Amino acid sequence: MEYAANNEYTEYATNNDDRISNDLVSETASSIQIESSNNSGRPPADVWEEFNTINNGAGKHKGASCRYCNQKWSRGRAHEMKSHLALKCKGNVPREIRLKLFVDAYYDVKEAINKAKEKRANQSLIKWIVYSGISFSAFDNPYFEDYTKALNLGYNPPKRSALATSILDAEAANIIIKMDKELSKAKNLTLCIDSWCSPLKHSIYAFVIIASERKQYVYSLRDFSKFTHSAKFNAEKIIEVLESIGLKKFTAIVFDAESSMMVAK
Ligand SMILES: [Zn+2]
Repeated sequence: MEYAANNEYTEYATNNDDRISNDLVSETASSIQIESSNNSGRPPADVWEEFNTINNGAGKHKGASCRYCNQKWSRGRAHEMKSHLALKCKGNVPREIRLKLFVDAYYDVKEAINKAKEKRANQSLIKWIVYSGISFSAFDNPYFEDYTKALNLGYNPPKRSALATSILDAEAANIIIKMDKELSKAKNLTLCIDSWCSPLKHSIYAFVIIASERKQYVYSLRDFSKFTHSAKFNAEKIIEVLESIGLKKFTAIVFDAESSMMVAK
């Protein structure tokens, strides 16, 4: 067994009960206990195994002192303790332990990502994709997976097929539910109808609702290419939207300049 080179430490043959002792708090560097167990270089299951516990009294957070260099913390925090042993400790920390704790502290491996965290990550990802107009095929590139693994090894990024279907649909459903909830309480709404021809010659209608605090909701985008856009047709579609939210909530309707829309008015 090796000790720190400055020979400050004294070894005691102790049992575990001695570790949690009030006396430790007042002990000086020269008498900190070093246990003979677990100095074999085997990585600890729990970082606390590498620290002496400082008992701060009932109900208080436990303090810690490093067994290798005697640095003390009035409150032991696992992450801080791991990063201390991995990189900062001047004591003779076995290489195996340093490596293991380095990975734990900086790569978050032990914490397999839970479902809720994964869902939140995927939601943020799909928002970024949609708002930035990024192609779904970009996410099948192995460098994207490399990037996510560098941040958190426990996260498995979704494949493009899942992004373009279930994750996108789930986010769209979230937005619709949120919009319906907000619109159900809103008053003095304005419905704006805009129509244009897409590059693929589809006739697209956008129904946008503006609430009093200037909040805009894209209520629906419809492809009406297959229909004749008569005044009657337009009027029907507009009434459909108004009725689905509540006719009485609307104070104005604004059309784009298209002539058939003007007739619908
Ligand atoms: Zn240390």
